[in-house]
Amino acid sequence: MLITLRETADRLMAANSLILTAHVNPDGDAIGSCLGLKFLLETMGKRVQVIIDDDIPKFLNIMPGIEEIKKPVEESYEADYLVILDACLDRVGVLPEKCKAPVLNIDHHGTNDELADYLYLDAESAATAEIIYRLAKALGIRFDKDSATAVYIGLATDSGYFKYSNTTPHTMRAAAELMETGIRPEKISEAIETKDFSVIQGMAKALQTVELFADGKVAGVFLDHELTSSLDNTEGFIDLIRVIDGVDVSVVLKAVEPEVCRVSMRSKVTDVSLIAAGMGGGGHKRAAGCTIKMPFAEAKKYLMSEILKALEV
Ligand code: 5GP
Ligand code: MN
Repeated sequence: MLITLRETADRLMAANSLILTAHVNPDGDAIGSCLGLKFLLETMGKRVQVIIDDDIPKFLNIMPGIEEIKKPVEESYEADYLVILDACLDRVGVLPEKCKAPVLNIDHHGTNDELADYLYLDAESAATAEIIYRLAKALGIRFDKDSATAVYIGLATDSGYFKYSNTTPHTMRAAAELMETGIRPEKISEAIETKDFSVIQGMAKALQTVELFADGKVAGVFLDHELTSSLDNTEGFIDLIRVIDGVDVSVVLKAVEPEVCRVSMRSKVTDVSLIAAGMGGGGHKRAAGCTIKMPFAEAKKYLMSEILKALEV
């Protein structure tokens, strides 16, 4: 059921204990939204746990409270609400099976399946963290440095440091106000963007696979299982090819298992959320992803035919 921001705030206010979670393969917005909301709710005396069914990426180590995030190792969990942030029910792993509390879903993905008991969805927000910022206002809670840092990281990472098309005056105003707590954007971006030397070597290997399609409108990097296994991390690889002159759709395909491939897409014109949704995934017009359960070569063929079919001229 769709609810308003006010009703979302009222439901959170009325709860005593909450479990917050976000999507697997968590990014800066998923984790920043969870920790930001956790800090804010704790100032109201709520009992809050953040539980995510995946590993936490090292590049987010600057996030305050990140060490408190747990995995869903218990048999079952009790809470007044299971709060799902930055995703819908199908992408958060086992927690909805282990926690039977009503699901309160807060998201900014237009492809949300709307199956949650209560859903606040705002696809105009640059990040789920931007919704958390507005929730803090609705709840009348002030930001301290920790909550501001978490929410700022969500805003900054999902908007490409305020340069993607999802950035609005609201995003900028929220960031400006969060900065008033004393957080330093350059320290945050430096910590997040610093990479091990081995990651740069991995990027060099990955870039050797780059191919152009459709007269240069599509660029892809294709990492088979052997290459993927040799890489620590593929964060940021797509940003290396999205900047190629003339490219509309960029894509990274990686075989995370012999018969399971992950896809990341970015675009300037074509709506890649529709392409991803057609393959069982989702996301935004300009950034989307999916998982293809096929061997690498087959997945590549399928993916490229779906992208070429969808190209907008
Ligand atoms: P990324 O390429 O950074 O992993 O994801 C880009 C965007 O697409 C993010 O907003 C992410 O949440 C969404 N996305 C990525 N993979 C999937 C997927 O498998 N399913 C859905 N529903 N969304 C995805
Ligand atoms: Mn997000």
